[in-house]
Amino acid sequence: MNIHEYQTKELLRGYGVPVPDGRVAHNVDNAATIAEELGGDKWVVKAQIHAGGRGKGGGVKVASSLDEVKQFTDEMIGSNLVTPQTGAQGRLVQRVLVEQACNINKEFYLGMVIDRATQRITVIASASGGMNIEEVARTDPDRVIREPIDPAIGLASFQARKIAAKIGFTGKQIGEAARMMQALYRCFRDKDALLAEINPLADIDDGKLMALDAKMNFDSNAMYRRPGITELRDFDEEDTKEVEASGHGLNYIALDGDVGCIVNGAGLAMATMDAISFHNGKPANFLDVGGGASPEKVGNAFRIVLQDPNVKAILVNIFAGINRCDWIAEGLVQAMRELEINVPIVVRLAGTNVELGAPILKDSGFPFIMADNLDDAATKVVATLEGAS
Ligand code: GDP
Ligand code: MN
Repeated sequence: MNIHEYQTKELLRGYGVPVPDGRVAHNVDNAATIAEELGGDKWVVKAQIHAGGRGKGGGVKVASSLDEVKQFTDEMIGSNLVTPQTGAQGRLVQRVLVEQACNINKEFYLGMVIDRATQRITVIASASGGMNIEEVARTDPDRVIREPIDPAIGLASFQARKIAAKIGFTGKQIGEAARMMQALYRCFRDKDALLAEINPLADIDDGKLMALDAKMNFDSNAMYRRPGITELRDFDEEDTKEVEASGHGLNYIALDGDVGCIVNGAGLAMATMDAISFHNGKPANFLDVGGGASPEKVGNAFRIVLQDPNVKAILVNIFAGINRCDWIAEGLVQAMRELEINVPIVVRLAGTNVELGAPILKDSGFPFIMADNLDDAATKVVATLEGAS
């Protein structure tokens, strides 16, 4: 789960990370008022979307007058911002962060992720921060250092100071950077984050360090115990079908192919997508109805998959353990009756009550295409597309 930059900064401020003074604005008047209240003679206007690379796409602008604050806000809000991370379709900007600007002497990078190989939160740091850090990591990986943190000890002061010195901090900035790292670590651990990133961590005007940009990503599976983070979720930034699916207890991920998939279990969903790809098809989504899928749940699954206009065929692949094939079959028949389904549906059923489920489909009068196994199902669903084109 992602949150916006302004929310991340508020959160980190609470942990003692120095961030610029600023507030979020939803319109031009808002932005001007905020800039006036912040005072000073230079402000930064920053588009708030759940994607980075905004600087390169025109989503971060330094304003030297209140008129410029208004102008930049006006240009950004309501526009579709395209950055190296949004894809060509871009993201609709609905709010901007207005901050006091500062003069930057140097930009550093400070990040933390959970490294699956060591199973530890790992600090990633570099003296070459700023907008080209991805490029630096690719072409000159030695300029990026990695340091795993022992979970029993946490990020100790000596270790944080060592990292700070390694990326070139000297004098009292070593202590400042180390404290920032420790604060980021505490926040990361307290809030079940998967990623935290301060880029740039800037050395500004008077030699102070400041987090000029901040991004955090959280473990969705832990959010039941982090209500303070959950309430920061911005549904406008998420795929509407994914939001609706999670409301029905379904796990749905939108993809860009044309074969809709309705499957029980994440592992089987992955295998199904692989099988479709193997037969030169492209999955339109990943939908896991989970265990114990009632006919209602199956109906909802169809409703969601069919909202995607790219779906030209649907593959239902059920390997029932806790599930029951007769329930799934009833759900399928009910969905055919209630919804306008004009695409071919290939069904593969196996496991509990398959001997009850298969006849329900056959006797329904609807043109389900039955498959014997996964490979057969993938072959048949791709064949329906070839027949159509
Ligand atoms: P991103 O491109 O989405 O990562 O957005 P950032 O918030 O990192 O901003 C991009 C760049 O804008 C930074 O690397 C800075 O160089 C610049 N920038 C951000 N805030 C300030 C500021 O207060 N003053 C100045 N001069 N530049 C800033
Ligand atoms: Mn940044």
